Amino acid sequence: MKEFSIIESFFKSGRHQRRDVEIGIGDDCAVTNVPEGQSLVVTTDTLVSGVHFPEDTEARAIAHKAIAVNLSDLAAMGAEPAWVSLSLSLPEADEEWLSDFSRGLHEITEYYTVQLIGGDTVKGPLTITITAHGFIPKEQALTRSKARPGDWLYVTGTLGDAGLAFDIITGRKDATPADKEYLLGRLNYPTPRVLAGTTLRRIAHSCIDVSDGLLSDVQHILNASNCGAVIHVDKLPISKPMMDSVELSEALRYALAAGDDYELLFTISEEQKGNLEVALANSNVSATCIGQLNGMSEKLELKFEDEPYHINASGYQHFA
Ligand code: ADP
Ligand code: MG
Repeated sequence: MKEFSIIESFFKSGRHQRRDVEIGIGDDCAVTNVPEGQSLVVTTDTLVSGVHFPEDTEARAIAHKAIAVNLSDLAAMGAEPAWVSLSLSLPEADEEWLSDFSRGLHEITEYYTVQLIGGDTVKGPLTITITAHGFIPKEQALTRSKARPGDWLYVTGTLGDAGLAFDIITGRKDATPADKEYLLGRLNYPTPRVLAGTTLRRIAHSCIDVSDGLLSDVQHILNASNCGAVIHVDKLPISKPMMDSVELSEALRYALAAGDDYELLFTISEEQKGNLEVALANSNVSATCIGQLNGMSEKLELKFEDEPYHINASGYQHFA
């Protein structure tokens, strides 16, 4: 199978056509329209085989995750996703693999009414780069830099599941079949918190998505906002499958330092705290208060039942 027939067979066929796309796949560029009063928000993430996913990961999951991690970045800014482009480097044109990959891609893009508007297809080591575009009403982007001392620190969903799943895949940990299924789902099919993100845009002061681990990502908010924080690790949201599979101290380590959660970490004023539950009611995700910000410049303190808590770990960094 050659380049053009790959594009034609697997990527041009999206059933969902958005009205704001004038020209999609097939010409030299895509042509799209940004609604009046909105800003265009753009993000790119690359997944490299053997670095971001084990080489034998199913193709459908790779596609899902490549889109999900980008939609998660848009969600963290409070943006509504609209379009994606796909740069695909493939070692070979394996039709079965491409068919599964495009199925995963079309499933998640259709779910979020996002349209694939273009890309590039080349031969090389398996690498997937997605660029995602979304909209935010002008000057309403939710950033890392507007947290304030006194804000409450919240996180959506549960933390650490994907990290434990990775250790299960690589044989370092084990779990019951049902727990395994849940945990692997969290690693391979993460849910970008799209609705939560657009809702939080109206009530949160700052937000980031947790991709490299809580400790690492909370520090980005503290640095950008010049605040400190106390996190109560006994309050961290841990899933039942995680609790069933490892000791508490290990669960806390996964929750604090493992990556790939794609939950939203955000700060909210005392006044908005009461509105949060109602606001998130139809976004299909819970949020847990895990700590509070203070004026101690960029300093993070961990506590367990009000006693200082120490952990020798940080988040994931390439080239570290
Ligand atoms: P060019 O040579 O002008 O860069 P290409 O031959 O690379 O064009 O691509 C032809 C068309 O197919 C373009 O519209 C491009 O955006 C689209 N395209 C190429 N690869 C992909 C892909 N993997 N997914 C989606 N669209 C793609
Ligand atoms: Mg090209």
